[in-house]
Amino acid sequence: MAKHDLLLLALNPSPVLDLMERALRAAGYEVAIVHDVEGLNRSLQESSPALVLIGEGFSGEDVFSFSEAMLERFPTLPILLYAEQDAPGMAKAVLKAGLSAYLHPPLKMDDIVGAVNKSMARARQLGDWLRHEVRRTTSSLAERAKISEAERTKLEAVIANIQDGVIVVGDKQEIIIINRSIRDIFNLDDSVFNGRHLSEVITNQDLQALLMRSSESPLKYHEVNFDDGRVFNAQYTPIPGVGAAITMQDISYLKELDRLKNDFVHTVSHDLRSPLTAVLGYTELIERTGPLSENQQEFLHRIQGSVQHITTLINDLLDLGRLEAGFDTRRESIQLEGVLRYTLDMFESHMQKKKITLTTNIAPNLHSLRANPIRIRQMMDNLVGNAIKYTPEGGTIRVGVSMEDNQIILEVTDSGPGIPTGEQNRVFDKFYRASNVPDGIGGSGLGLAIVKSIVDSHQGRVWVESNVGKGSSFFVVFPAHE
Ligand code: ADP
Repeated sequence: MAKHDLLLLALNPSPVLDLMERALRAAGYEVAIVHDVEGLNRSLQESSPALVLIGEGFSGEDVFSFSEAMLERFPTLPILLYAEQDAPGMAKAVLKAGLSAYLHPPLKMDDIVGAVNKSMARARQLGDWLRHEVRRTTSSLAERAKISEAERTKLEAVIANIQDGVIVVGDKQEIIIINRSIRDIFNLDDSVFNGRHLSEVITNQDLQALLMRSSESPLKYHEVNFDDGRVFNAQYTPIPGVGAAITMQDISYLKELDRLKNDFVHTVSHDLRSPLTAVLGYTELIERTGPLSENQQEFLHRIQGSVQHITTLINDLLDLGRLEAGFDTRRESIQLEGVLRYTLDMFESHMQKKKITLTTNIAPNLHSLRANPIRIRQMMDNLVGNAIKYTPEGGTIRVGVSMEDNQIILEVTDSGPGIPTGEQNRVFDKFYRASNVPDGIGGSGLGLAIVKSIVDSHQGRVWVESNVGKGSSFFVVFPAHE
């Protein structure tokens, strides 16, 4: 039995109250007596009693609902009830209200002390168990916090030391993490940038374009160029629940290799062109030197055809080289529909021969374009030429030019073999030919690469939509010139 435990007796004055007080004091408890609800509440609040012994009808209250209210505020407080008499159903009501036990007359001092001791012991056990549980839960939480803190530190160390640049942003593009490489790439000092908007901290145009375009289209990577010649490949990955991560790899050395390769191809192509011109010239001269047999005539034509083919290939390579080197700087105000008419005129007889039905749909009042007319014609020839080349006899081709949101849109649709979905992006790569090119249709795989380079150098976009067996639509979008 613990001394100094304070017991609160909430009973109306009576001989029983005196008996209880005496018995409990004799057993070593401190006892305080309250006579009304106000006093009881104040004592509960101020002196934290270890037990309350409440009389039935105390201060005119319904003792059960009053005790329930007390237990809501002090859930571990043992409450003993003193009932005037042992009525049937009393034990059930006591249990239901959550009281510890109840006493009733006739009462002996031992009964009182015994009941109080028992309730106190149970309350102490409950308290010990609670304290133990709280300690256990707290230490397991602390343990977990320690682990997640360690993991966070580890993750931060990994991100900080990774060779690639890493930026993690939230939903509103506010910076969550930027690593050391990013600071080196963009020459940022050691300030804390967390929480600031990314475009406010990094003003590089290419990175801004990546952020803008990644929200509009499924574009996920973009080249980021610097004036000092460095080139990075930036990749944008949305992270659900966080925002997005942008990683950047230095591809300057790959770009340099690409440039060397292009220079090589350019030089070789250039050097090959002169002897080929000579070969073609001499084959034409042979015909003038005297009559040729039918066989000789045919071989000569084959030689001329092949030389012509190689010359076209070399011209395409040289064109690509020039476009990729950024030499295409000529800009004039041109009307796209005018260029289109020249192309269609050129291919008219070709289409007639293949019995192709052509429909054109050119919107009125089109804005003009600031472009290199020769390159735009080349782009148009390649797109319309492909449509004719790949569309079987009796097919249809539709060409349209329209305006939308200050952009000029060109569409070339055919009823050819189509392009398999997985290859639609690759047809714009150099030398790539789709796996379903019909037998007997020749080509170098450079035409669309040239189209793409021309479109890129005019700040446009090109893409294809196609269904195998049904046909293809090539779209080109250019910003209109006011
Ligand atoms: P090619 O000289 O082979 O025509 P291109 O670069 O012009 O080269 O086109 C690349 C590939 O794209 C072609 O080989 C073909 O597989 C596919 N292609 C291009 N245009 C069409 C089209 N209108 N219909 C079907 N496939 C096409």
